[in-house]
Amino acid sequence: MMIARKDISSEIEKTFHKHQKRAYSLRQENFRSRLKVLRELERWIHVNKEVIREAVYNDFKKTPEEVAISDIYPVLTEIRKVKRHLKFWVRPKPVRNSLPFWGTSSRVYYEPKGTTLIISPWNYPFMLAVAPLVSSIAAGNTAILKPSELSPHTSSLIKEMVSEVFPEDLVTVFEGGVETSTKLLRLPFDHIFFTGSPAVGEIVMSAAAKNLTSVTLELGGKSPVVIDETANLKDAAEKIAWGKWLNSGQSCVAPDYIIIHYSAKEKFLNYLKLYAEKLYGNLENYTAIVNEFHYQRLREWLAEAISDGAELVYGGKVDDAVKKMGPTVVADPPPDSHLAKNEIFGPVLPILTYHSIEDPIDYINQRPKPLALYLFTKKKSTIKKMNLNTSAGSMVINDCVLQFGHPELPMGGVNTSGFGKAHGHYGFLAFSNEKSVLKQRTGFTMAKTLYPPFGKFKKTVLELLLRHF
Ligand code: NAD
Repeated sequence: MMIARKDISSEIEKTFHKHQKRAYSLRQENFRSRLKVLRELERWIHVNKEVIREAVYNDFKKTPEEVAISDIYPVLTEIRKVKRHLKFWVRPKPVRNSLPFWGTSSRVYYEPKGTTLIISPWNYPFMLAVAPLVSSIAAGNTAILKPSELSPHTSSLIKEMVSEVFPEDLVTVFEGGVETSTKLLRLPFDHIFFTGSPAVGEIVMSAAAKNLTSVTLELGGKSPVVIDETANLKDAAEKIAWGKWLNSGQSCVAPDYIIIHYSAKEKFLNYLKLYAEKLYGNLENYTAIVNEFHYQRLREWLAEAISDGAELVYGGKVDDAVKKMGPTVVADPPPDSHLAKNEIFGPVLPILTYHSIEDPIDYINQRPKPLALYLFTKKKSTIKKMNLNTSAGSMVINDCVLQFGHPELPMGGVNTSGFGKAHGHYGFLAFSNEKSVLKQRTGFTMAKTLYPPFGKFKKTVLELLLRHF
């Protein structure tokens, strides 16, 4: 046992040193070599679509269609975007000069950060490991990937994929749980990209602080849905049923709870039940809860809320043998219940009511800033009010979850829901150092007019500078 532990540590260290060497040589390579390897990755994914679907199914019974939509398609979109735009993204950007800088020429260069570490969760096990990898490679880095131990089939497939597509000193996968993560986190990477829970995000950030490594933290939390009395309730119910119960509610941007205007509640719930049945009524084709721990956790939280006075409005169907829980709606869980306090990350959807739009705004502002905030309304003034008075990683009006897949939008949270942004150009920037390069002329420069001693002329220049430039 001791020997095995020592082996993985030394293997990790050896690999890391190889990555450091490679990262240095990558700086000299043209961006076309990044595109070449990403094309290879794209080809592998196309050839192995079925194998990916099978691996994710084996992890938690996710249907092939859902894997295609939410695990494979977003990665292919990321690659396509890089293929189209990388030559523009890597181009140094000239900047304008103000008076003291006349005569200089300045540019922002996008240099690779160097060695990167990507730690990913199990809930979209292929996409959340491979999409950041695409950004890291696009930016010219090496990457070590540590997928989640809770999705072992996908994790081992990613390892296989990486060994087929990438040289070992460019991308390497280390499988395992906390122990492997902890060992990796001790190393002085140039950037760490972590996707997971706020609790582990804290651990990752403390470890990164020891080496002053920059971090992108893609975390979670409770994402609220506010529905006012003007919303189209049928349309809202259909969209929320899909966004919440896709992947059995195990999505970082899934609606966590609803706050609805009291006058709309009954009608909305009737529509919601209708769409829950229509979209996910059959447990047989429904995604399972990832493991026994989370399955029992959800059952306990539900039972606790109901025994403390919440009303089971819909669902509650379970199948212990396959760890499945159908779409479930609970009205008014007590404020100190787990359902009201913690990220649910499962198919249970609490619903609360409000009278004045200030109530949900206050409720949201008294809690950690959400990863996503969803608002269903026809009123422009409500959209404006919500946008101005709340903070969240993203806000969606009259839909939910879609923002995650939009390739032009930055994906990320604020404070406890994370920081740093992912996807497309934002992903490229997260893995790049925006380096300022300023080139000065020799001889007379404007800056020299501000060197001491200060005679009459220099004092006039200074005055002008303070007033106008
Ligand atoms: P998690 O934080 O438990 O695990 C994530 C990763 O961290 C895994 O690879 C795991 O092995 C590793 N890990 C776990 N404990 C660790 C420790 N003590 N030290 C170092 N590494 C450790 O998260 P999870 O259960 O896999 O995923 C669910 C969470 O992730 C939810 O909070 C969800 O909202 C969030 N999430 C966020 C996004 C996003 O894009 N913002 C996407 C998906 C999931």
